[in-house]
Amino acid sequence: MNKDPIGAGATNPRDFLDIDAELTTDERLLRDTVRQFVDDRILPSVSEWFEEGYFPREMAKEMGALGLLGMHLDGYGCAGMSAVDYGLACVELEAGDSGTRSFVSVQGSLAMFPIWAFGSEEQKTQWLPGMAAGDLIGCFGLTESDSGSDPGSMRTNAKKDGADWVLNGSKMWITNGGIADVAVVWAHTDDGVRGFIVPTNSPGFSTQDIHHKVSLRASITSELVMDNVRLPDEAVLPGVAGLKGPLTCLSEARYGILWGSVGAARACYEAALDYSKSREQFGRPIAGFQLTQRKLVEMMVGINRGMLLALHLGRKKDAGTLQAAHISFGKMDNVRMALDVAREARSVLGANGITLEYPVIRHMNNLESVYTYEGTNEIHTLILGQAITGIQAFS
Ligand SMILES: Cc1cc2nc3c(=O)[nH]c(=O)nc-3n(C[C@H](O)[C@H](O)[C@H](O)COP(=O)(O)OP(=O)(O)OC[C@H]3O[C@@H](n4cnc5c(N)ncnc54)[C@H](O)[C@@H]3O)c2cc1C
Repeated sequence: MNKDPIGAGATNPRDFLDIDAELTTDERLLRDTVRQFVDDRILPSVSEWFEEGYFPREMAKEMGALGLLGMHLDGYGCAGMSAVDYGLACVELEAGDSGTRSFVSVQGSLAMFPIWAFGSEEQKTQWLPGMAAGDLIGCFGLTESDSGSDPGSMRTNAKKDGADWVLNGSKMWITNGGIADVAVVWAHTDDGVRGFIVPTNSPGFSTQDIHHKVSLRASITSELVMDNVRLPDEAVLPGVAGLKGPLTCLSEARYGILWGSVGAARACYEAALDYSKSREQFGRPIAGFQLTQRKLVEMMVGINRGMLLALHLGRKKDAGTLQAAHISFGKMDNVRMALDVAREARSVLGANGITLEYPVIRHMNNLESVYTYEGTNEIHTLILGQAITGIQAFS
């Protein structure tokens, strides 16, 4: 006889598979703390920020005080949390806005991580505590206007001049660029690609913010220009040479995205679910129409699947068994799921779906950037293709 009969009880539409039960008490507490922060500090203003194309710099200190900046790193003022904790925080931040999560990803995984992983003791002590506190903002300069998916084609270069380095070139599409105190810039040298820690007040360094974006508007995206920027030898990250440096950082950031995108999807699904139960047409709530239910069910299934995938990969990261190709799986599948959910949710809201009164079109537009940055959908497909066939199809 079956001792554990399958229950016929109610399920929670907001956590259908009861994934909460897979989290520890501490993980739920952390998740709830970040959710509260997003409810209190992000959601009331974010559609205005999006409309104005504004990122509130002061938010950095608040996030620093909560331990969210470089939270998965240890020492030097960082919170030393687990990979799953970091992922859960990304879900909540991106349920607010992909721009908020992007800020935290760039600060922690792209600017602090390379200093933490490849920096000298002096570099770590000089930069990390201020960055963890949100007093100093960092950015990561890899992409150039003619060098995106193929970062090896970058033109930015650094040449030795006596004991110094002289850096020349420009970087494009750099998150936090215009508000950064420090930029981690990747450049060709005689020893291959190297990372440089560049204080943004260095003579010859300038930034230009990119305007007219219709995606990630509550986030600063900039061009960095380096015109004979002279740096001491101590500015180079000593611990890595070659593209492995930036690609290792990207793996860290993509890991946050595979979680965060589930948060954006969840926000869209919940908005569509609530709306569909109150909006009446033909004398009944639109949630009562079969076609709407199908949309809602597809969204719910995608989000639960995405969350299980993220949690699985997070547990593997904490166990030390996660591979870079696993991250490509998560980034590719969860971001496309989130974009599908956002587009379906937009249709459920009808005309209201095109306004910033509801979060859906903001998330939908944001997710177009998330689909492209940190390795496009196509590039992650090719990484997975190579992983399963052994044949590279990039070039
Ligand atoms: C809002 C935003 C913020 C960003 N922040 C940062 C940042 O902080 N730091 C940073 O360094 N970069 C940043 N980026 C840049 C981002 O990482 C690049 O946009 C991304 O790598 C893609 O490069 P690309 O835009 O030049 O597209 P391209 O590389 O020109 O690609 C265009 C299209 O061609 C496809 N394609 C390219 N090569 C292949 C191939 N071999 N096979 C099949 N298809 C291919 C791509 O998948 C894509 O669909 C940001 C971008 C955005 C939009």
